[in-house]
Amino acid sequence: MLVLYHELVHVGQDTEFRRGITTPRALDDYMNFYRTDRSRRPRVIGAWEHEAYLKEIFVMNALMDGRVKRDAENSSFNADEYLRALNTPPSMKQAVEMLFGFAQAIYNSNSNLSNIAPAYADIVNTHYRRDQGYDIYRLTSEKQLELVP
Ligand SMILES: [Zn+2]
Repeated sequence: MLVLYHELVHVGQDTEFRRGITTPRALDDYMNFYRTDRSRRPRVIGAWEHEAYLKEIFVMNALMDGRVKRDAENSSFNADEYLRALNTPPSMKQAVEMLFGFAQAIYNSNSNLSNIAPAYADIVNTHYRRDQGYDIYRLTSEKQLELVP
């Protein structure tokens, strides 16, 4: 359910981005952005992941009556209880642990939709770079995609 919600956030981001594309060249660039082959690392747009995980965690917190925020602030976490509360299979344990790590960064940095704190963004970026092998890109004001070093 939460994963589905995360992907729905991306559908919205993608739609909004495409609506702003005004030239065939820009559309080509965007389509090529996600094309992967063995010669390069897969890519993500950092800001889109920060937003999607933030929304995902706010929904998770609402589903659990505010427990995620309380636990994040108190550094108290029991993955098995989360799996039960979210009615999620044990195979999702690692994912739930990762989400809780993001939640701690969000609540302890007071991140929200209008203010993504660097402390939270860095944790998500590190997850993609180090754990998943992605390159992180940012969107410039001219809608160009630029590698984040
Ligand atoms: Zn995502």
